[in-house]
Amino acid sequence: MIALRSKREIVKLKAAGRMVAEVLQLVKKNVQPGISTAALDKIAENEILKQGARPAFKGYAGFPATLCTSVNYEIVHGIPSKRRKLLEGDIISIDVGVYLDGYYGDAALTVPVGKVSQEAERLMQVTETSLAKAIECACPGERLYTLSYSVQQYAEKHGFSVVRDFVGHGIGTELHEPPQIPNYGKPGTGLVLKSGMVLAIEPMINQGGPEVEVLADGWTAVTSDRKLSAHFEHTVAVTDNGPLILSQF
Ligand code: MG
Repeated sequence: MIALRSKREIVKLKAAGRMVAEVLQLVKKNVQPGISTAALDKIAENEILKQGARPAFKGYAGFPATLCTSVNYEIVHGIPSKRRKLLEGDIISIDVGVYLDGYYGDAALTVPVGKVSQEAERLMQVTETSLAKAIECACPGERLYTLSYSVQQYAEKHGFSVVRDFVGHGIGTELHEPPQIPNYGKPGTGLVLKSGMVLAIEPMINQGGPEVEVLADGWTAVTSDRKLSAHFEHTVAVTDNGPLILSQF
């Protein structure tokens, strides 16, 4: 069953999404060479608690932190650490979820640490634009895998590959709800989107091949070829007026 959220529920999801956006901007401002990923995590956690919400990832299936911080060839689910200090030229994907007043928000972005390579810039830009393309498809009557394919088509056109082992998801009163939202697929197929569906759309795009490994910590997903990966995510409501991005100001 895919939940259709009422206008009242969308207002609450928007509040959670807005907080996620604020936390991401705050963390982004603090990204610089020398800072540890644990320090970024603390900044995020303090802000979420200060605003009366709860970090959604902490304790989820045993995940130990507020943020997922995934550096360079790490794709998603990187665990913040005091030992992991950011270096000039790194890229870092920051993913955060909050639980506020019964509803979840979830979003991610990838940012440069100081000056990065042109190729890293291009990977981040293509990933962010692939998310924008997918969001444009989040309209009533559209098929889910048309949205999925829009990510794949854009990423592959630019010579990058799509991670297949992790997918986006519905979101609402649970962090992860149906449907699963792959970033590849056959256009014109899949679920018909309806007004009131709320989707966390999250392309993970690799510089090299799509293959994934999970490190010994049981969480950190990395590219098998150790080439770069980028990740952008928004929580988006399907509405009669078209896509409504909830995880922004
Ligand atoms: Mg998500």
